[in-house]
Amino acid sequence: MPSPDQSLLGQAAEVFSAADAVTVLTGAGVSAASGVPTFRGTGGLWEGHRPEQLATPEAFAADPLTVWRFYNWRRGLLGKCVPNPAHTALSELEARCRNFTLITQNVDGLHHQAGSKKVIEIHGNIWTVRCTACSREFDTTGQALDDDPHCSSCGGRLRPGVVWFGESLPDHAMTAAYEAVTRCDVMLVSGTSALVQPAASFGAWAKQNEATLIEVNLEATPLTELADISLLDSASEVLPAIVKEMTRRKEQAGT
Ligand code: NAD
Ligand code: ZN
Repeated sequence: MPSPDQSLLGQAAEVFSAADAVTVLTGAGVSAASGVPTFRGTGGLWEGHRPEQLATPEAFAADPLTVWRFYNWRRGLLGKCVPNPAHTALSELEARCRNFTLITQNVDGLHHQAGSKKVIEIHGNIWTVRCTACSREFDTTGQALDDDPHCSSCGGRLRPGVVWFGESLPDHAMTAAYEAVTRCDVMLVSGTSALVQPAASFGAWAKQNEATLIEVNLEATPLTELADISLLDSASEVLPAIVKEMTRRKEQAGT
């Protein structure tokens, strides 16, 4: 792979260093280097089903067992994954910024594992389960679940604590995300195809509020034309390189 464009890296480092408020939106591509399959990439299929066929309230109502088998398969895969340098770089970026918010569409919990603090998981977290009867939530991080798990409190059927296709995002997460997107002066969007709404619009909202938009993605997306700086390369290469360049510039300025 050719190394990321040095001049664009330098520009990105400068923009982050001067920022007052940084908001980041991540998607499945940021976890790809951890071995988590993206939905649209190869490896996203499970027993011949597309995730869009299983990750829906209708699929769960019709066949909860199959949907739970799919989620237990994904939990099994994710249990073996660890954060990659893109996750680590984002937690380092947070430590250097005055105001920082990370919004993620990922449900894998890897940003938390990498040490990120202010994380808004707009699509929920796969390690959380929720009772369909009493709405209680349970943290089941790292645990193996039955294929049709039930609530220890009321006996109701449990469901994965993620947002399915066709469901609306939790109000509190959406409000916090909207606030962070419209308040920032620099927005970074990384590892998302920018096709799934409403996150697909976040970059455009930030631009409307005159933020500088930086995109780091393996391939061009609908956001690429809007971006002020677009680095079409792997997040696990580019994000650490930007943070390293920020450090280099800071040290140089201090000498
Ligand atoms: P997506 O699969 O639609 O798009 C992923 C994007 O990342 C693509 O544009 C691809 O080119 C890019 N990409 C792949 N590898 C990359 C890398 N190493 N560096 C930078 N970019 C890379 O994912 P999405 O936009 O997040 O939307 C899919 C939906 O699926 C989301 O709603 C999300 O909740 C869910 N999902 C989550 C996970 C997870 O939790 N890790 C995994 C798969 C899907
Ligand atoms: Zn219950």
